[in-house]
Amino acid sequence: MMKERHCMRCGKELPPGNLNYMVHIRVFAGFDEVLLEPDGEIDQQMKQILKEIGESDPEELEKDVYEEFNLILCKSCRDRFVKETQHPWEGPFRVKKDPDRILH
Ligand SMILES: [Zn+2]
Repeated sequence: MMKERHCMRCGKELPPGNLNYMVHIRVFAGFDEVLLEPDGEIDQQMKQILKEIGESDPEELEKDVYEEFNLILCKSCRDRFVKETQHPWEGPFRVKKDPDRILH
């Protein structure tokens, strides 16, 4: 017997066999291979970074670099999710409206 599922956003029941949507999200930390010139206070900065790492939960630290999760959504939440991620500046999830251009 299949486990009963609910939409992870609105909580609507998603009976087995009914239409539902799986959203697989992977978030990577971007690294542009540019190391910023230290500001003369490198020792201080290193100490601060090491202090922060030392205080961090290793799991939390890993999440900063890579995170992966699944969402199960009903049709209407899926539609809204897709719309908001494609046009994030129209919704509450705001990003810079003019992203850096990628030159081809
Ligand atoms: Zn829903």
